[in-house]
Amino acid sequence: MIETDVLVIGAGPAGSSAAKYATLGGAKVILMDKKSEIGTPKRCAEGVSKEGLEKLGIEPSGRWVTKEATGVRMVSPNGTAVNLTEDKVKLPEAGYVLERKVFDKHMAMDAARAGAKIMVKTLATGLRREDGQVLVSAESMGEEFEIKSKIIIAADGPESRVGRWAGLKTSLKPKNMESCAQFEMSGVNMEEPDCIEFHFGSVAPGGYAWMFPKGDDIANVGLGVLTTLTDKSAYQHLLDFVANNPSTKNAQPVELNIGGDPVGGLLKKLVADNVLVTGDAAGMVNPLTGGGIISGMTGGLLAGKLAAQAVAEGDFSHKRLKVYEKQCEEEIGESFQKYLKAKSYLLSLSDEELDSIATAFKDINFESVDTKEMIKKLVKISPKALLKLGKLF
Ligand SMILES: Cc1cc2nc3c(=O)[nH]c(=O)nc-3n(C[C@H](O)[C@H](O)[C@H](O)COP(=O)(O)OP(=O)(O)OC[C@H]3O[C@@H](n4cnc5c(N)ncnc54)[C@H](O)[C@@H]3O)c2cc1C
Repeated sequence: MIETDVLVIGAGPAGSSAAKYATLGGAKVILMDKKSEIGTPKRCAEGVSKEGLEKLGIEPSGRWVTKEATGVRMVSPNGTAVNLTEDKVKLPEAGYVLERKVFDKHMAMDAARAGAKIMVKTLATGLRREDGQVLVSAESMGEEFEIKSKIIIAADGPESRVGRWAGLKTSLKPKNMESCAQFEMSGVNMEEPDCIEFHFGSVAPGGYAWMFPKGDDIANVGLGVLTTLTDKSAYQHLLDFVANNPSTKNAQPVELNIGGDPVGGLLKKLVADNVLVTGDAAGMVNPLTGGGIISGMTGGLLAGKLAAQAVAEGDFSHKRLKVYEKQCEEEIGESFQKYLKAKSYLLSLSDEELDSIATAFKDINFESVDTKEMIKKLVKISPKALLKLGKLF
Protein backbone atom coordinates (compact mmCIF):
# COMPACT_ATOMS: atom_id res chain seq x y z
CA MET A 1 0.00 0.00 0.00
CA ILE A 2 1.35 3.41 -1.04
CA GLU A 3 0.37 6.35 1.17
CA THR A 4 0.35 10.04 0.36
CA ASP A 5 -1.31 13.32 1.38
CA VAL A 6 -2.58 14.31 -2.05
CA LEU A 7 -3.11 12.05 -5.07
CA VAL A 8 -3.61 13.86 -8.38
CA ILE A 9 -5.21 11.67 -11.05
CA GLY A 10 -4.32 12.90 -14.55
CA ALA A 11 -1.11 14.66 -15.60
CA GLY A 12 -2.54 17.08 -18.16
CA PRO A 13 -1.95 20.80 -17.64
CA ALA A 14 -4.54 20.97 -14.81
CA GLY A 15 -3.17 17.96 -12.92
CA SER A 16 0.47 19.02 -13.18
CA SER A 17 -0.43 22.50 -11.96
CA ALA A 18 -2.38 21.02 -9.02
CA ALA A 19 0.51 18.68 -8.14
CA LYS A 20 3.05 21.50 -8.30
CA TYR A 21 1.09 23.84 -6.02
CA ALA A 22 0.08 21.13 -3.53
CA THR A 23 3.76 20.18 -3.24
CA LEU A 24 4.88 23.80 -2.89
CA GLY A 25 2.26 24.12 -0.12
CA GLY A 26 4.07 21.42 1.85
CA ALA A 27 2.00 18.30 1.05
CA LYS A 28 3.35 14.91 0.01
CA VAL A 29 2.01 14.48 -3.54
CA ILE A 30 1.68 11.73 -6.14
CA LEU A 31 0.76 12.65 -9.74
CA MET A 32 -0.38 9.66 -11.79
CA ASP A 33 -1.33 9.24 -15.45
CA LYS A 34 -2.44 6.24 -17.46
CA LYS A 35 -0.29 7.37 -20.39
CA SER A 36 3.20 6.03 -20.87
CA GLU A 37 4.23 9.38 -22.33
CA ILE A 38 2.65 12.42 -20.67
CA GLY A 39 1.08 14.72 -23.28
CA THR A 40 0.91 12.06 -26.03
CA PRO A 41 -1.30 11.84 -28.00
CA LYS A 42 -2.39 15.46 -27.91
CA ARG A 43 -6.06 16.42 -28.29
CA CYS A 44 -5.64 20.12 -28.78
CA ALA A 45 -5.13 22.91 -31.31
CA GLU A 46 -2.40 24.12 -28.93
CA GLY A 47 -3.27 27.83 -28.73
CA VAL A 48 -2.74 29.75 -25.47
CA SER A 49 -2.88 33.43 -24.65
CA LYS A 50 0.30 35.21 -23.63
CA GLU A 51 -1.57 36.90 -20.82
CA GLY A 52 -2.74 33.54 -19.49
CA LEU A 53 0.77 32.10 -19.26
CA GLU A 54 2.02 35.31 -17.71
CA LYS A 55 -0.69 35.23 -15.04
CA LEU A 56 0.36 31.70 -14.13
CA GLY A 57 4.00 32.81 -13.90
CA ILE A 58 5.09 30.51 -16.73
CA GLU A 59 7.96 31.79 -18.89
CA PRO A 60 7.45 30.83 -22.54
CA SER A 61 10.18 28.41 -23.63
CA GLY A 62 11.56 27.68 -27.09
CA ARG A 63 11.28 24.00 -26.14
CA TRP A 64 7.48 24.08 -26.32
CA VAL A 65 6.43 27.24 -28.21
CA THR A 66 6.29 26.45 -31.93
CA LYS A 67 4.93 29.77 -33.13
CA GLU A 68 3.96 33.21 -31.89
CA ALA A 69 0.60 34.21 -33.34
CA THR A 70 0.03 37.94 -33.43
CA GLY A 71 -3.52 38.04 -34.73
CA VAL A 72 -6.77 36.30 -35.50
CA ARG A 73 -8.39 35.84 -38.89
CA MET A 74 -12.11 35.13 -38.86
CA VAL A 75 -13.64 33.75 -42.02
CA SER A 76 -17.35 33.67 -42.89
CA PRO A 77 -18.98 30.89 -44.95
CA ASN A 78 -18.43 32.64 -48.31
CA GLY A 79 -14.74 33.22 -47.51
CA THR A 80 -14.93 36.88 -46.38
CA ALA A 81 -12.20 37.45 -43.79
CA VAL A 82 -11.97 39.86 -40.86
CA ASN A 83 -8.44 40.22 -39.50
CA LEU A 84 -7.80 41.32 -35.94
CA THR A 85 -4.40 41.93 -34.44
CA GLU A 86 -3.51 41.61 -30.78
CA ASP A 87 -2.50 45.27 -30.50
CA LYS A 88 -6.07 46.27 -31.43
CA VAL A 89 -8.26 43.75 -29.60
CA LYS A 90 -7.77 41.47 -26.59
CA LEU A 91 -8.01 37.98 -28.00
CA PRO A 92 -8.55 34.81 -25.99
CA GLU A 93 -6.37 31.78 -26.86
CA ALA A 94 -4.23 33.91 -29.22
CA GLY A 95 -0.56 34.31 -28.49
CA TYR A 96 1.43 31.12 -28.70
CA VAL A 97 0.89 27.86 -30.51
CA LEU A 98 2.45 25.16 -28.37
CA GLU A 99 3.84 21.68 -28.87
CA ARG A 100 1.54 20.10 -26.27
CA LYS A 101 3.49 16.85 -26.21
CA VAL A 102 6.48 18.79 -24.94
CA PHE A 103 4.56 21.40 -22.92
CA ASP A 104 2.61 18.82 -20.89
CA LYS A 105 5.80 16.90 -20.09
CA HIS A 106 7.50 20.12 -19.00
CA MET A 107 4.60 21.02 -16.70
CA ALA A 108 4.87 17.54 -15.13
CA MET A 109 8.64 18.05 -14.80
CA ASP A 110 7.95 21.32 -12.95
CA ALA A 111 5.73 19.40 -10.52
CA ALA A 112 8.48 16.77 -10.12
CA ARG A 113 11.10 19.47 -9.48
CA ALA A 114 8.84 20.95 -6.79
CA GLY A 115 8.89 17.49 -5.15
CA ALA A 116 5.88 15.55 -6.50
CA LYS A 117 6.27 11.84 -7.22
CA ILE A 118 5.24 11.04 -10.80
CA MET A 119 3.74 7.67 -11.75
CA VAL A 120 3.36 7.16 -15.51
CA LYS A 121 1.40 4.32 -17.13
CA THR A 122 -0.67 4.06 -13.97
CA LEU A 123 -4.42 3.81 -14.41
CA ALA A 124 -6.85 4.65 -11.60
CA THR A 125 -9.65 2.06 -11.64
CA GLY A 126 -11.86 3.00 -8.69
CA LEU A 127 -12.02 4.50 -5.25
CA ARG A 128 -13.47 3.80 -1.82
CA ARG A 129 -13.41 5.66 1.47
CA GLU A 130 -11.96 4.23 4.69
CA ASP A 131 -11.36 5.94 8.04
CA GLY A 132 -11.70 9.46 6.66
CA GLN A 133 -9.30 8.83 3.78
CA VAL A 134 -9.60 7.53 0.22
CA LEU A 135 -8.25 4.32 -1.25
CA VAL A 136 -7.73 4.50 -5.00
CA SER A 137 -7.27 1.22 -6.81
CA ALA A 138 -4.67 1.41 -9.56
CA GLU A 139 -3.05 -0.74 -12.20
CA SER A 140 0.42 -0.41 -13.69
CA MET A 141 2.31 -2.80 -15.96
CA GLY A 142 -0.02 -5.67 -15.07
CA GLU A 143 0.25 -5.05 -11.34
CA GLU A 144 -2.75 -4.03 -9.20
CA PHE A 145 -2.38 -2.02 -5.99
CA GLU A 146 -4.01 0.68 -3.87
CA ILE A 147 -2.95 4.22 -3.02
CA LYS A 148 -4.20 5.70 0.25
CA SER A 149 -4.61 9.46 0.22
CA LYS A 150 -6.10 12.21 2.35
CA ILE A 151 -7.19 14.20 -0.70
CA ILE A 152 -7.78 13.23 -4.32
CA ILE A 153 -7.61 15.83 -7.08
CA ALA A 154 -9.53 14.56 -10.09
CA ALA A 155 -7.80 16.04 -13.15
CA ASP A 156 -8.70 13.19 -15.48
CA GLY A 157 -9.92 15.25 -18.43
CA PRO A 158 -13.15 15.50 -20.43
CA GLU A 159 -14.22 11.87 -19.94
CA SER A 160 -13.65 12.10 -16.19
CA ARG A 161 -14.69 9.09 -14.16
CA VAL A 162 -13.00 9.96 -10.88
CA GLY A 163 -15.53 12.68 -9.95
CA ARG A 164 -18.36 10.23 -10.59
CA TRP A 165 -16.72 7.57 -8.43
CA ALA A 166 -16.72 10.18 -5.66
CA GLY A 167 -20.45 10.76 -6.13
CA LEU A 168 -20.25 14.00 -8.15
CA LYS A 169 -22.28 14.60 -11.30
CA THR A 170 -19.55 15.17 -13.87
CA SER A 171 -21.11 13.56 -16.94
CA LEU A 172 -22.30 16.00 -19.59
CA LYS A 173 -25.26 16.26 -21.94
CA PRO A 174 -24.37 15.99 -25.68
CA LYS A 175 -25.26 19.68 -26.17
CA ASN A 176 -22.46 20.59 -23.75
CA MET A 177 -19.78 18.43 -25.36
CA GLU A 178 -18.20 19.60 -28.60
CA SER A 179 -17.11 16.67 -30.75
CA CYS A 180 -13.75 17.52 -32.33
CA ALA A 181 -11.54 16.19 -35.11
CA GLN A 182 -8.20 17.61 -36.12
CA PHE A 183 -5.31 16.89 -38.46
CA GLU A 184 -1.83 18.18 -37.90
CA MET A 185 -0.79 18.83 -41.49
CA SER A 186 2.23 19.80 -43.54
CA GLY A 187 1.96 21.61 -46.86
CA VAL A 188 -0.56 24.11 -45.44
CA ASN A 189 -0.54 27.44 -47.23
CA MET A 190 -2.26 29.90 -44.90
CA GLU A 191 -3.39 33.33 -46.11
CA GLU A 192 -2.02 34.94 -42.93
CA PRO A 193 0.62 32.60 -41.51
CA ASP A 194 1.05 34.71 -38.35
CA CYS A 195 -2.65 34.53 -37.45
CA ILE A 196 -4.73 31.79 -35.94
CA GLU A 197 -7.71 31.31 -38.22
CA PHE A 198 -11.38 30.53 -37.47
CA HIS A 199 -14.13 29.55 -39.92
CA PHE A 200 -17.76 29.93 -38.87
CA GLY A 201 -21.13 28.70 -40.09
CA SER A 202 -22.38 25.41 -41.52
CA VAL A 203 -18.81 24.22 -42.08
CA ALA A 204 -18.97 23.19 -38.39
CA PRO A 205 -22.55 23.15 -36.99
CA GLY A 206 -22.56 24.21 -33.34
CA GLY A 207 -18.87 25.09 -33.36
CA TYR A 208 -16.22 26.35 -35.73
CA ALA A 209 -13.26 25.20 -37.79
CA TRP A 210 -9.71 26.38 -37.13
CA MET A 211 -6.22 26.55 -38.56
CA PHE A 212 -3.48 27.18 -36.02
CA PRO A 213 -0.03 27.69 -37.59
CA LYS A 214 2.94 25.87 -36.07
CA GLY A 215 5.66 27.42 -38.24
CA ASP A 216 6.89 26.60 -41.77
CA ASP A 217 4.04 24.89 -43.63
CA ILE A 218 2.69 23.09 -40.55
CA ALA A 219 -0.71 23.75 -38.94
CA ASN A 220 -3.34 22.15 -36.76
CA VAL A 221 -6.45 22.04 -38.93
CA GLY A 222 -9.57 20.97 -37.11
CA LEU A 223 -13.14 21.60 -36.10
CA GLY A 224 -15.68 21.02 -33.39
CA VAL A 225 -19.37 20.27 -33.90
CA LEU A 226 -22.37 19.59 -31.69
CA THR A 227 -23.67 16.14 -32.60
CA THR A 228 -27.17 17.38 -31.74
CA LEU A 229 -26.99 19.72 -34.77
CA THR A 230 -25.53 17.49 -37.49
CA ASP A 231 -25.92 13.96 -38.83
CA LYS A 232 -22.30 13.81 -39.94
CA SER A 233 -19.38 13.01 -37.63
CA ALA A 234 -16.77 15.65 -36.81
CA TYR A 235 -14.29 13.60 -38.87
CA GLN A 236 -16.54 13.74 -41.97
CA HIS A 237 -16.93 17.51 -41.54
CA LEU A 238 -13.14 17.78 -41.26
CA LEU A 239 -12.59 15.82 -44.50
CA ASP A 240 -14.99 18.21 -46.28
CA PHE A 241 -13.33 21.28 -44.79
CA VAL A 242 -9.84 20.17 -45.79
CA ALA A 243 -10.99 19.19 -49.30
CA ASN A 244 -12.71 22.54 -49.91
CA ASN A 245 -10.21 24.94 -48.36
CA PRO A 246 -7.59 26.46 -50.70
CA SER A 247 -5.02 26.55 -47.85
CA THR A 248 -5.11 22.77 -47.42
CA LYS A 249 -5.38 21.80 -51.09
CA ASN A 250 -1.86 20.38 -51.11
CA ALA A 251 -1.60 19.51 -47.43
CA GLN A 252 -1.08 16.07 -45.93
CA PRO A 253 -2.01 14.90 -42.43
CA VAL A 254 0.71 13.53 -40.20
CA GLU A 255 -1.54 13.14 -37.18
CA LEU A 256 -5.27 12.72 -36.47
CA ASN A 257 -6.73 13.80 -33.14
CA ILE A 258 -10.29 12.99 -32.11
CA GLY A 259 -11.77 14.11 -28.81
CA GLY A 260 -14.46 15.85 -26.83
CA ASP A 261 -14.33 19.39 -25.52
CA PRO A 262 -16.71 20.20 -22.63
CA VAL A 263 -18.11 23.62 -23.52
CA GLY A 264 -21.13 23.87 -21.19
CA GLY A 265 -19.34 25.98 -18.58
CA LEU A 266 -18.07 25.32 -15.08
CA LEU A 267 -19.80 22.47 -13.23
CA LYS A 268 -21.71 23.52 -10.10
CA LYS A 269 -20.37 20.89 -7.71
CA LEU A 270 -16.60 20.48 -7.73
CA VAL A 271 -16.08 19.16 -4.23
CA ALA A 272 -16.91 16.08 -2.13
CA ASP A 273 -15.37 14.79 1.11
CA ASN A 274 -11.63 14.29 0.32
CA VAL A 275 -12.14 15.18 -3.38
CA LEU A 276 -11.57 18.23 -5.60
CA VAL A 277 -12.27 18.18 -9.35
CA THR A 278 -10.32 20.40 -11.75
CA GLY A 279 -9.55 21.13 -15.42
CA ASP A 280 -11.74 19.66 -18.17
CA ALA A 281 -13.19 17.26 -15.62
CA ALA A 282 -14.72 20.32 -13.92
CA GLY A 283 -15.84 22.05 -17.14
CA MET A 284 -13.05 24.64 -16.98
CA VAL A 285 -13.18 25.29 -20.72
CA ASN A 286 -14.00 28.61 -22.37
CA PRO A 287 -17.49 27.88 -23.81
CA LEU A 288 -16.87 30.10 -26.85
CA THR A 289 -13.35 29.12 -27.89
CA GLY A 290 -13.12 25.63 -26.37
CA GLY A 291 -9.77 26.61 -24.83
CA GLY A 292 -9.05 24.95 -21.50
CA ILE A 293 -5.28 24.96 -20.96
CA ILE A 294 -4.99 28.23 -19.03
CA SER A 295 -8.29 27.93 -17.16
CA GLY A 296 -7.50 24.30 -16.29
CA MET A 297 -4.09 25.27 -14.94
CA THR A 298 -5.70 28.07 -12.95
CA GLY A 299 -8.16 25.59 -11.46
CA GLY A 300 -5.27 23.20 -10.75
CA LEU A 301 -3.39 25.93 -8.95
CA LEU A 302 -6.41 26.68 -6.74
CA ALA A 303 -7.05 22.99 -6.03
CA GLY A 304 -3.38 22.29 -5.25
CA LYS A 305 -3.00 25.22 -2.87
CA LEU A 306 -6.22 24.41 -1.03
CA ALA A 307 -5.37 20.70 -0.78
CA ALA A 308 -2.04 21.55 0.89
CA GLN A 309 -3.78 23.87 3.37
CA ALA A 310 -6.41 21.25 4.20
CA VAL A 311 -3.70 18.62 4.76
CA ALA A 312 -1.82 20.99 7.08
CA GLU A 313 -5.04 21.57 9.05
CA GLY A 314 -6.03 17.89 9.04
CA ASP A 315 -9.52 18.68 7.69
CA PHE A 316 -10.44 17.12 4.32
CA SER A 317 -14.19 17.46 4.71
CA HIS A 318 -16.55 18.74 2.08
CA LYS A 319 -17.19 21.71 4.37
CA ARG A 320 -13.48 22.69 4.44
CA LEU A 321 -12.96 22.17 0.71
CA LYS A 322 -16.14 23.93 -0.42
CA VAL A 323 -14.41 27.32 -0.66
CA TYR A 324 -12.79 25.92 -3.84
CA GLU A 325 -16.13 26.21 -5.69
CA LYS A 326 -16.34 29.92 -4.83
CA GLN A 327 -12.72 30.50 -5.83
CA CYS A 328 -13.24 28.75 -9.18
CA GLU A 329 -16.45 30.68 -9.84
CA GLU A 330 -14.65 34.00 -9.22
CA GLU A 331 -11.45 33.14 -11.10
CA ILE A 332 -12.90 31.13 -13.98
CA GLY A 333 -16.71 30.75 -14.03
CA GLU A 334 -17.65 34.43 -13.99
CA SER A 335 -15.59 35.22 -17.08
CA PHE A 336 -17.32 32.32 -18.89
CA GLN A 337 -20.72 34.02 -18.66
CA LYS A 338 -19.97 36.56 -21.38
CA TYR A 339 -18.48 33.83 -23.58
CA LEU A 340 -21.62 31.69 -23.19
CA LYS A 341 -23.69 34.66 -24.40
CA ALA A 342 -21.37 35.37 -27.30
CA LYS A 343 -21.53 31.71 -28.27
CA SER A 344 -25.31 31.49 -28.31
CA TYR A 345 -25.36 34.66 -30.44
CA LEU A 346 -22.85 33.22 -32.88
CA LEU A 347 -24.74 29.95 -33.14
CA SER A 348 -28.02 31.78 -33.81
CA LEU A 349 -26.67 33.35 -37.03
CA SER A 350 -27.29 31.89 -40.46
CA ASP A 351 -24.52 31.60 -43.06
CA GLU A 352 -26.00 34.64 -44.86
CA GLU A 353 -25.99 36.73 -41.69
CA LEU A 354 -22.39 35.72 -40.95
CA ASP A 355 -21.41 36.72 -44.49
CA SER A 356 -23.07 40.13 -44.23
CA ILE A 357 -21.49 40.82 -40.82
CA ALA A 358 -18.05 39.83 -42.15
CA THR A 359 -18.54 42.06 -45.21
CA ALA A 360 -19.44 45.01 -42.99
CA PHE A 361 -16.52 44.54 -40.64
CA LYS A 362 -13.77 43.37 -42.97
CA ASP A 363 -12.27 46.81 -43.51
CA ILE A 364 -13.12 48.34 -40.17
CA ASN A 365 -10.43 49.89 -38.03
CA PHE A 366 -11.13 48.30 -34.66
CA GLU A 367 -8.78 50.73 -32.97
CA SER A 368 -10.91 53.77 -33.72
CA VAL A 369 -14.45 52.37 -33.87
CA ASP A 370 -16.68 52.58 -30.77
CA THR A 371 -19.58 50.33 -29.72
CA LYS A 372 -22.22 52.81 -30.95
CA GLU A 373 -20.71 52.84 -34.41
CA MET A 374 -20.54 49.04 -34.46
CA ILE A 375 -24.24 48.81 -33.54
CA LYS A 376 -25.11 51.34 -36.27
CA LYS A 377 -23.28 49.16 -38.76
CA LEU A 378 -25.11 46.05 -37.57
CA VAL A 379 -28.51 47.78 -37.87
CA LYS A 380 -27.69 48.68 -41.43
CA ILE A 381 -26.49 45.29 -42.58
CA SER A 382 -28.69 42.96 -40.59
CA PRO A 383 -31.41 44.23 -38.23
CA LYS A 384 -32.31 40.57 -37.58
CA ALA A 385 -28.79 39.82 -36.37
CA LEU A 386 -28.90 42.83 -34.09
CA LEU A 387 -32.26 41.77 -32.70
CA LYS A 388 -30.79 38.36 -31.83
CA LEU A 389 -27.91 40.13 -30.08
CA GLY A 390 -30.33 42.39 -28.19
CA LYS A 391 -32.29 39.40 -26.87
CA LEU A 392 -29.17 38.09 -25.13
CA PHE A 393 -28.41 41.17 -23.06
C1 LIG B 1 -9.54 19.15 -30.69
C2 LIG B 1 -9.31 20.00 -29.48
C3 LIG B 1 -8.66 21.22 -29.62
C4 LIG B 1 -8.39 22.01 -28.50
N1 LIG B 1 -7.70 23.17 -28.67
C5 LIG B 1 -7.37 23.92 -27.60
C6 LIG B 1 -6.58 25.10 -27.73
O1 LIG B 1 -6.15 25.48 -28.82
N2 LIG B 1 -6.29 25.82 -26.61
C7 LIG B 1 -6.71 25.44 -25.38
O2 LIG B 1 -6.44 26.14 -24.40
N3 LIG B 1 -7.46 24.30 -25.23
C8 LIG B 1 -7.78 23.53 -26.29
N4 LIG B 1 -8.50 22.39 -26.13
C9 LIG B 1 -8.88 21.99 -24.77
C10 LIG B 1 -7.66 21.45 -24.01
O3 LIG B 1 -7.03 20.44 -24.76
C11 LIG B 1 -8.10 20.93 -22.65
O4 LIG B 1 -8.91 21.93 -22.04
C12 LIG B 1 -6.92 20.62 -21.73
O5 LIG B 1 -6.14 19.58 -22.23
C13 LIG B 1 -7.47 20.24 -20.36
O6 LIG B 1 -6.44 19.85 -19.52
P1 LIG B 1 -6.73 18.80 -18.35
O7 LIG B 1 -5.45 18.67 -17.61
O8 LIG B 1 -7.96 19.15 -17.62
O9 LIG B 1 -7.11 17.43 -19.10
P2 LIG B 1 -6.28 16.55 -20.12
O10 LIG B 1 -5.26 17.34 -20.82
O11 LIG B 1 -7.29 15.80 -20.91
O12 LIG B 1 -5.51 15.53 -19.18
C14 LIG B 1 -6.20 14.51 -18.47
C15 LIG B 1 -5.19 13.41 -18.17
O13 LIG B 1 -5.82 12.45 -17.31
C16 LIG B 1 -5.35 11.17 -17.68
N5 LIG B 1 -6.33 10.20 -17.18
C17 LIG B 1 -7.65 10.09 -17.52
N6 LIG B 1 -8.23 9.11 -16.82
C18 LIG B 1 -7.27 8.56 -16.04
C19 LIG B 1 -7.26 7.48 -15.09
N7 LIG B 1 -8.37 6.77 -14.81
N8 LIG B 1 -6.09 7.17 -14.49
C20 LIG B 1 -4.95 7.88 -14.76
N9 LIG B 1 -4.90 8.89 -15.65
C21 LIG B 1 -6.05 9.23 -16.26
C22 LIG B 1 -5.26 11.23 -19.20
O14 LIG B 1 -4.37 10.26 -19.70
C23 LIG B 1 -4.75 12.65 -19.43
O15 LIG B 1 -3.35 12.72 -19.54
C24 LIG B 1 -8.81 21.58 -27.22
C25 LIG B 1 -9.50 20.36 -27.08
C26 LIG B 1 -9.75 19.59 -28.19
C27 LIG B 1 -10.47 18.26 -28.02
